[in-house]
Amino acid sequence: MSDNWYIGIDLGGTSVKMAFIDDDAQIIDKWDIKTDTTNDGENIVSDISKSIKSKIEEHQKDKDLIKGIGMGAPGFLEMETGFVYQAVNIGWKNYPLKEELEKSVGLPVIVDNDANIAAIGEMWRGAAEGAKDVLCITLGTGVGGGVIAGGEIIHGVNGMAGEIGHTTAVTDGGVLCNCGKTGCLETVSSATAIRRMAIDGFRDHPESPLKKQYDTNGDISSKDVLDRAKEQDHLAMSVVKKVAFHLGFALASFATTMNPSKIVIGGGVSKAGDTLLDPVKHYFKMYALPRVNEGVEIVPAQLGNDAGVIGGAWLAKTKL
Ligand SMILES: [Zn+2]
Repeated sequence: MSDNWYIGIDLGGTSVKMAFIDDDAQIIDKWDIKTDTTNDGENIVSDISKSIKSKIEEHQKDKDLIKGIGMGAPGFLEMETGFVYQAVNIGWKNYPLKEELEKSVGLPVIVDNDANIAAIGEMWRGAAEGAKDVLCITLGTGVGGGVIAGGEIIHGVNGMAGEIGHTTAVTDGGVLCNCGKTGCLETVSSATAIRRMAIDGFRDHPESPLKKQYDTNGDISSKDVLDRAKEQDHLAMSVVKKVAFHLGFALASFATTMNPSKIVIGGGVSKAGDTLLDPVKHYFKMYALPRVNEGVEIVPAQLGNDAGVIGGAWLAKTKL
């Protein structure tokens, strides 16, 4: 019997998602725990370890059945060593994640960037299943990216490949980004950016229901903006148009460099569906080489929150 299990872990700023996954990418069990970011995240690894051990016991499975752990973490890290240089939302700085987790759980561990494992998940069983050249972009609080060429995730010389969110989109008067630069793609296409751009637009669109919503509730979310865009609200539509322009333009440039067969758009913002995808495709076509445009399909991500754990399991299955 080729009955192997792998553990996929997707570490985020608020929760740690974990799953047992088999050779066919089927989720056997999934669960999550809270991310304890106190004391620079020093408890995270032992929390994960305890949780995994109790789950293994619960399933009454022999530990030999589990071949390894594939884990995604946010921030800048090196896959080969599993060393995290910096993960701002977690509190880690120069943290030997792979080493600590292996010691704590007693299983081999492989670590990659969270956006990369999400991309791999979509390639294994999601929106890009079967594709070998894939560009993934995740539009959430920030903007992550993953580049797969010839079936392999591209890391670059020091782990920075695929940081699409931090390519420059605005060269004059751009907004300050979390990374310290200004005008990054993230500052004009993340959920955070959508909320900010709508609020900035109240001056020119005082009639917008978004303004009324803001005045009543004290805030609006990116989802409010995207919902209003569906209802043809002018302010919301102008924000979506701006986001789509920057995404279409940036994705066209990356696609012309790597000639992918799929561009997968994921993250909370992508839930807007065609409201966002249609204008992105419009601008993409405007800026991509015609043959590049012909070869690619721009699709929404399919795995949602499971992409990371599934991608993590693929890493454990193929790289350990
Ligand atoms: Zn940036």
